[in-house]
Amino acid sequence: MKFALAGNPNCGKTTLFNTLTGSTAHVGNWPGVTVDKREGTYKKLGEKIDIVDLPGIYSLSPYTPEEVVSRNFIVDEHPDCIINVVDATNLERNLYLTTQLLEIDVPVIIALNMIDVVRQRGTTILVQELESKLNVPVVEISALKGEGIDAMMKKAYSCARVKRVGQTVIENKDLVNLIEKTKDEFAGKVSSPLFHAIKLIENDELEVKNHQDILADVKTMKNRIDTGDFAGDFEAVVADERYKYITKNFEKTIIRKNGEEKETKSDKIDKVLTHRIWSIPIFLVIMFFVFHLVFSEDLFFLNSIFGLEVSSKGWVNFFTGMGYEDLLAEALEAGEAFTGISIPSPGVFLQSWMGWLTGSVIDLVAGVLPEGTWYTGFIVDGFLTGIDSIFSFIPQVLLLFLFISILEDSGYMARVAFIMDRAFRKFGLSGKSFIPLLMGFGCSVPAMIATKTLEDEKERDLTIRLTPFFSCGAKAPIWAMLASVVAGHFLGDIFVFSIYLFGIVIAIVAAIIMKVFGKTKEVPPFIMELPAYHRPQAKNLLAHLWEKFKHFLYKASTIITASIILIWFLSNFGWAFWKGMVEIEDSILADLGRVLKVVFYPLGWAMGADGWKYSVASITGLIAKEDVVATMASLGLEEGTISLSNAAIYAFAVYNLFTLPCFAAVATAKSESSKKGFRVTIAWWLTASYVISLAVYWVGKLCELSWIVGLLVILVLIAAIVLVGLYASGKLKAKEAK
Ligand code: GDP
Ligand code: MG
Repeated sequence: MKFALAGNPNCGKTTLFNTLTGSTAHVGNWPGVTVDKREGTYKKLGEKIDIVDLPGIYSLSPYTPEEVVSRNFIVDEHPDCIINVVDATNLERNLYLTTQLLEIDVPVIIALNMIDVVRQRGTTILVQELESKLNVPVVEISALKGEGIDAMMKKAYSCARVKRVGQTVIENKDLVNLIEKTKDEFAGKVSSPLFHAIKLIENDELEVKNHQDILADVKTMKNRIDTGDFAGDFEAVVADERYKYITKNFEKTIIRKNGEEKETKSDKIDKVLTHRIWSIPIFLVIMFFVFHLVFSEDLFFLNSIFGLEVSSKGWVNFFTGMGYEDLLAEALEAGEAFTGISIPSPGVFLQSWMGWLTGSVIDLVAGVLPEGTWYTGFIVDGFLTGIDSIFSFIPQVLLLFLFISILEDSGYMARVAFIMDRAFRKFGLSGKSFIPLLMGFGCSVPAMIATKTLEDEKERDLTIRLTPFFSCGAKAPIWAMLASVVAGHFLGDIFVFSIYLFGIVIAIVAAIIMKVFGKTKEVPPFIMELPAYHRPQAKNLLAHLWEKFKHFLYKASTIITASIILIWFLSNFGWAFWKGMVEIEDSILADLGRVLKVVFYPLGWAMGADGWKYSVASITGLIAKEDVVATMASLGLEEGTISLSNAAIYAFAVYNLFTLPCFAAVATAKSESSKKGFRVTIAWWLTASYVISLAVYWVGKLCELSWIVGLLVILVLIAAIVLVGLYASGKLKAKEAK
């Protein structure tokens, strides 16, 4: 048997799916995360039951591709039962879809989800009345808490074995007559004739395309009854009928409030977190706090402010990690106490530990292998060093993801999309495109796929173009590595935070500019259910981290290893490779790098003797962003050997942030954008990264020479951006006025 989960976006279908099937599909907390259907099995009844999780829809007349997926499945694939998941805190809106589902000849059961929140609010839903009005079983569940799930499945199971004929809630006599006649024409041709008849009357695009023959008859019949009330717009009349039915029957009778509706904890939190003015500063503080916990070498600034230090005595050394081993040894040699080291954040702690661990593995292997042979060089300096350089940052990166997942799972990220929508709507940016962008913090590939939820092609192209600017997980090792060398250590968190922020700001500014000068349509209103906050579930968090880690292992064992081997070969052999190995400076790679270096020279980081290595690294980043770190390590650039100025480090970082993402993301961009849009996107990535990196380097250089002048230039740049923004909003207003 096959049961389908259908319902509005964000009503909890995926959560229910996970509970039923024990799988760990991504619960996104925002619409559009499930863009394709997903299948699993429920095993607690005698028979195995396939469960299909469908993308969220508001209606069965589809506009976007993922809505088509849902509609086609429900109508054409004949599930044995449709479980209509309904957000019970938003009953009236959700029932609109229900009234359409009821028209199909399929058993339907209604799952009133989020009943936990309903109860918290002090509301009661009169289930039996609802059942008798809708004429299908209704069950109360909480997908999140796992309440009522098995009872629901039992009911659905018995329901699935009884044939059901579609029913409609439409009561208008003329309309009912018309529907009956149209239905007769469909009889015998399709299953669910009632459903098809109503959709054809509504002028539903798919229906009109598929049933041209019946359409002509329907038109004449329509003309006969269209005496004013209908004004030719049958779609509006049908929708109106549905809403009328819902209001009439459910507004007063079904939901009983026990006194005033109570303000839940979640509502109270939202008053602060989505405050008109404070929401954005709060978002920035939360993000900073996350980066601080992951990248700071001075936890809570205890050292800078209070002078707190780690001493060489006791367990503290152990817990601050072996990363400080060298310093410790030095101190011992000099006969001094080991001081001057601040308490690291958990992220830096993990990193130093992991660095120590992987370093020890390398030493161990190097100790066993004979010295000076080519294969020792290959295994130790090429392969292990490359892989190790990334591995040592992985725990830190996973910690970052843990925090991001917590923000996501608790419901906060959905608020961020809402806040962004409110702040930037004036400029023509919609919360709908912020959702894929925020997903870009994880990985650009699913983020770009999620742009499917945007109806306008231009909007999709634009969003895809900006997705890599929301720094993805694979770029995090680059920032972590650079954070450990920037500004003499102590500003790692601020460095990484500023990179992320820089990406977001540039993306928003670029979007505004492109919006104003491109010919995009008006922003459609953005409706989004904000689910109540809840404690993130350990199961979900672990599943996310495990996914990330697996993805990383997979990449490390395939493309990253392959590119490390290639880099090793190219950096150990000259053009006449049959003559044996050469010094790195005479290698093929060095020559290639020197050609690249000419191109990148103005950006600062390619200037010195090692300039060609950075140039090569930034190119290998196209294969996978982790490769930047791996390549640098196999070419001997690591903490201690990187001698770039801070300006150059920053310019190098932003170059990697804004340039072409990895091949996988480029391929996704190609398949998800329009043909012309994709070409513009490639040109845009190449230009933006070059120009921004150039600007950052020279402004940074200026700051190094004279803070005052540098600051002035930065202020002028910001003023210019603000002016462009104001001009843009003025222009948009003019456009709207027209
Ligand atoms: P989908 O878009 O329909 O697949 O919805 P999701 O499964 O992604 O859930 C949307 C949000 O609602 C998530 O934050 C879930 O944790 C939350 N949610 C789902 N079911 C419940 C529930 O029964 N109670 C509460 N309080 N939250 C729920
Ligand atoms: Mg979903």
